[in-house]
Amino acid sequence: MEQDLLHTSKLEAVGRLTGGIAHDFNNMLSVVIGNLDLLQNSIKGNSKAERRVRMAIDSAQHCADLTYRLLAFSRRQPLQLTTVDVATLMPGLLELMRRTLGERINVDLQIDQDIWPIEVDRAQLEAALLNLAVNARDAMPNGGDLTVTVENRTLEEGRNHPSGEFVVLSVSDTGMGMSPEVLERVFEPFFTTKESGKGTGLGLSMVYGFVQQSHGHIDVESVPGEGTTIRILLPRTKNLGEALQTVPADTVEPFG
Ligand code: ADP
Repeated sequence: MEQDLLHTSKLEAVGRLTGGIAHDFNNMLSVVIGNLDLLQNSIKGNSKAERRVRMAIDSAQHCADLTYRLLAFSRRQPLQLTTVDVATLMPGLLELMRRTLGERINVDLQIDQDIWPIEVDRAQLEAALLNLAVNARDAMPNGGDLTVTVENRTLEEGRNHPSGEFVVLSVSDTGMGMSPEVLERVFEPFFTTKESGKGTGLGLSMVYGFVQQSHGHIDVESVPGEGTTIRILLPRTKNLGEALQTVPADTVEPFG
């Protein structure tokens, strides 16, 4: 719990800091990209110059992407809670994963019959699962298997969750896995092992924030050289009252 609070205040500090800067930065970047686009039109035929402008546009787009993620991270958006049937959301999401991950990653779904409804922000749930899938791809540079599992589970109290009925979503990969040192820090904002420009270190922080806001629980199992499984527990809708009671009154929610 102490660690949770530490993490929460760190998230809030990062959110405040980045939100202000990212907004202005985003506006300036759109001016840069707009002008580069115009320039590109006026140098058609000069392949060397076109290539340079293309590189500048790609780089600026990368900055814009990072800024967008920082903004999304810091923005205290109200949750759009709805009752979500994960089974109906899965086919579209799997299709998106396959397109995003490319041919070398084999994406598979295992889903129980009659998955219980959950009360979450649908867009954030999809973004969280896509985030996990992209991390899995990065952990499998030579290709591999990504398995998404969706199950109904009635659980006894565990190391990091109370007893109750949960829809359990797992994302497993056959990638490089993580060392204990990395495993300990994965949810820290800005913690990344990826080379500069490839990772922001915000993906799992965002997933963590989403899970906390949804009164769920998350754990990671990873074996170096074998792979990683990230498991998200989300309370069955009719048990939401119970789940809320398990959150102590002094717990600060990370966003909004
Ligand atoms: P980023 O992907 O930008 O680095 P994340 O917060 O999503 O940020 O992940 C933090 C770090 O956790 C990654 O840099 C990586 O070292 C590790 N990680 C996350 N998911 C996996 C995975 N599926 N397999 C191996 N390592 C992972």
